[in-house]
Amino acid sequence: MTANKVFPLLMTSKENFALEAEKVDGSLLWHLRYGHLNQRSLQLLHQKNMVVGLPSIHSEKEICEDCIFGKFHRLPFSQSSWRAKAPLELVHADICGPTRTPSFNNKRYFILFVDDFSRMMWVYFLEQKSEAFSIFKQFKAFGENQSGHNLKVLRTDRGGEFISNEFSEYCKSNGIKRELTARYTPQQNGVAERRNRTIVPRDGKKHVESKESAKYILG
Ligand SMILES: [Zn+2]
Repeated sequence: MTANKVFPLLMTSKENFALEAEKVDGSLLWHLRYGHLNQRSLQLLHQKNMVVGLPSIHSEKEICEDCIFGKFHRLPFSQSSWRAKAPLELVHADICGPTRTPSFNNKRYFILFVDDFSRMMWVYFLEQKSEAFSIFKQFKAFGENQSGHNLKVLRTDRGGEFISNEFSEYCKSNGIKRELTARYTPQQNGVAERRNRTIVPRDGKKHVESKESAKYILG
């Protein structure tokens, strides 16, 4: 590098050739260096002078493909499932957690029940996953009593708390048909899984996204 900060280019070949200029975008590079940190936070690091050599990040145009792909999710299967024709005919259940931030009562899990017919949902918070069984009995009693309908089919994934002996026995003796979705295929349990994402977005920062879902929180 010369004194005036210019890189001299030594051209030795006598033949004609074309040159292509390539500009390396600093903002994208720093976005990658900081593990896909967002523009605003990079700007903050610069403003507070916390990183040696970090330039001021201005480019809003630069789009990081990896960040976009990282936010993709698979859609539920549509053809494999049926829709209920009456309340509680089919109930979807799913457990989510542990959440990064516990609730006021120090509960880090929640169980979600979605009525397939009305799409109404109920959320109960749990300290341990093992509370799922007693919560389910509570939900069943409440739902059946309030609606005047019986719970007929329960659709869950194969999580240990749903396929325990006591859980299976209870469903059998109460005439509840089980539908277990395949492991690692949340598409089959799409209804309950989608509602999880309404309550906890991918970054796990917010517990409840909308007032609509907050209405049904009981636990
Ligand atoms: Zn990125």
